[in-house]
Amino acid sequence: MNKKRPAEIGLSDTELAIRWQDGSESRYSLEALRRNCPCALCRALREEPGVQTPPPPGPLELPLLSKEAATATAQASGWELVGRYGLRITWADGHDHGIYTFESLREQG
Ligand SMILES: [Zn+2]
Repeated sequence: MNKKRPAEIGLSDTELAIRWQDGSESRYSLEALRRNCPCALCRALREEPGVQTPPPPGPLELPLLSKEAATATAQASGWELVGRYGLRITWADGHDHGIYTFESLREQG
């Protein structure tokens, strides 16, 4: 169990950067974070590929419309801390249900 918390959080157009209290730094692609949104709605969509498929991983294979859609949903307009355990990201399309726990972020980073 790693219970380290962020000392500093930064958001760019494409990345979320976290400097942890132990001095290490992690960077996360916003597109990947959105694709793995932990909220119940997105999890349900991912488990039911017939309803709506998440953006495919390779940008080169994306048709134009899907690429635009993927870009719109992979831009973050802000974030806020949730209690002592996680981070909520508000996406450019208004979606803000997913809470990314520091524990899961540490595992990815
Ligand atoms: Zn979601």
